[in-house]
Amino acid sequence: MKVTLFEPKGYCAGVTNAIKIAYEVKKEHRDVPVYILGMLVHNQIVIDELEKAGITTLYRHSISDEALLESLPDGSVIIFSAHGHKKNLDELALEKHFVVYDATCPRVKHNLLIIEQELKNKHQIIYVGHNNHPEALAALSLSENVFFYDIKGSFDYKRVKDKSPLVINQTTLNTKELKDIYIDIIVHKPKARIENEICATTRLRQEALIELEEDVDLIVVVGDKASSNTNRLLEIASSSHPEVKSLLVSSLEEIKKIDLPFKHAVISSGASTPLSEIDLIVSYLKSL
Ligand code: SF4
Repeated sequence: MKVTLFEPKGYCAGVTNAIKIAYEVKKEHRDVPVYILGMLVHNQIVIDELEKAGITTLYRHSISDEALLESLPDGSVIIFSAHGHKKNLDELALEKHFVVYDATCPRVKHNLLIIEQELKNKHQIIYVGHNNHPEALAALSLSENVFFYDIKGSFDYKRVKDKSPLVINQTTLNTKELKDIYIDIIVHKPKARIENEICATTRLRQEALIELEEDVDLIVVVGDKASSNTNRLLEIASSSHPEVKSLLVSSLEEIKKIDLPFKHAVISSGASTPLSEIDLIVSYLKSL
């Protein structure tokens, strides 16, 4: 099969930074358990590798972050994930005398700083994101004047009294969907100030999928189903090219189980997908 590999590929800078921090922390605290609150980055292959190195992920599932932290012994070593964390968790960590490391992506930190600045200036915020995503939860935890606009839902404008609220968003949204949300917001709040915070790597990966060569009949997005930016790539692929087969796979093992009677595949990848897994998938597809 002919294979075209799209750029950017593999880890983004924020993911590279978070993984580096986790291994450095373990090196420094060799003899004690090291915990990460939630998945450090949304990719199970990465999490399994961290586990092998003695770094334990505290999975959220149906347990709250507060309960997870409460369950740890006082003085534990913890790492906050790349997506950011709720403000009250800093206070909880302090009360429990945790040794804390923060692997939040600098891009996410920048986003939170903008919100804090606006709150200081007495503005209200409309925050567009995905329900329950850790990055959105971190932003909402800053103040009750941050109002959540679920990108898959609707918004009650009556709650926002500010005539010119700041509109800001999660960094890994679907660029097309966000544009539609802006139209809705401007209809209801014509003086709203829009700050598009989709990060560069998310935007570039999505843009690469818009125009395809004519003979492409398969789009493979390599990444984890838990990853927001990976899921957005699949959405963009399917909505922009309904006539082309689009797949999301996390590993070589998974793609090997799928029948692939195609001639030209393009490969896109989420920002937390290991390059080694992408290379294995590229080689496999080329051999078909
Ligand atoms: Fe940071 Fe963007 Fe990577 Fe998320 S996808 S970790 S916001 S650079």
